Amino acid sequence: MVKKVDHIGIAVKNLEEALEFYENTLGMKCVETEIVEEQKVKVAFLPIGDTEVELLESTEEDGPIAKFIEKRGEGIQHIAYRVDNIEEAIEELKSKGIRMIDEKPRYGAGGAKIAFLHPKSTFGVLIELCERE
Ligand code: ZN
Repeated sequence: MVKKVDHIGIAVKNLEEALEFYENTLGMKCVETEIVEEQKVKVAFLPIGDTEVELLESTEEDGPIAKFIEKRGEGIQHIAYRVDNIEEAIEELKSKGIRMIDEKPRYGAGGAKIAFLHPKSTFGVLIELCERE
């Protein structure tokens, strides 16, 4: 069902400071930033090999990333796996009894279609399915 690690989502308090580290210290390059209103986040994508790092900064105090950082601190927030057909993947997971946060795909940064699985069904990891053109 899943083809590759599409990206790793990392929650940060300050995107500019995080980018400073990723670009100037690690030598990665940010290719795109975007504000995703629906999820109250500003994201930055940094490709590395066949995958990407997605840095996420909350744009609102009550956004999901702000709440994540409040509870667990900065760090890895989710792992996104690429799928070819997200609707089919969601249906298959549901038929196998997997608890979904999103039962329908929603908009993700970069125009992807995404859906999250509930960590209670995934051994504690927030998994995102990601379909791209
Ligand atoms: Zn993501």
